[in-house]
Amino acid sequence: MTIAIAALLVLGVLIYTLIVRPGSLPEPEPVSPFRHVDEAKARIYENLRDLQFELRLGKLSDEDYARTKLDLQKELAKVLADADKLKAELGVQTTVKAAKAKAPAEFVCPHCGKKFKEAMKFCGSCGKPMEADA
Ligand SMILES: [Zn+2]
Repeated sequence: MTIAIAALLVLGVLIYTLIVRPGSLPEPEPVSPFRHVDEAKARIYENLRDLQFELRLGKLSDEDYARTKLDLQKELAKVLADADKLKAELGVQTTVKAAKAKAPAEFVCPHCGKKFKEAMKFCGSCGKPMEADA
């Protein structure tokens, strides 16, 4: 009898795990490409803080402190370099997209309606500011 109840419980948990949970899980949040960078940076800074704390407490020899600190700084440099690479890659994409998005064929004066090929601060025709909200 006990075994039957236990088996039923296990089955219930299995069903819950396999069927109920995946369906009720919220949509995964879009992960920022810099999230792991931020996390890695935070972790290294925390380790550096701990390291200084331990040195002050006398738990660490100067030699151990210097060596561990150097390791952490190397790790940090690598993380930052990766972040820069990522930024550069994303930056290129963003720039291309932005250039496409805001490259109107012409600029129209909001006051007199005259069209110009180049963006200007003031209309060459009526002399009023080219930007409506300027
Ligand atoms: Zn004008």
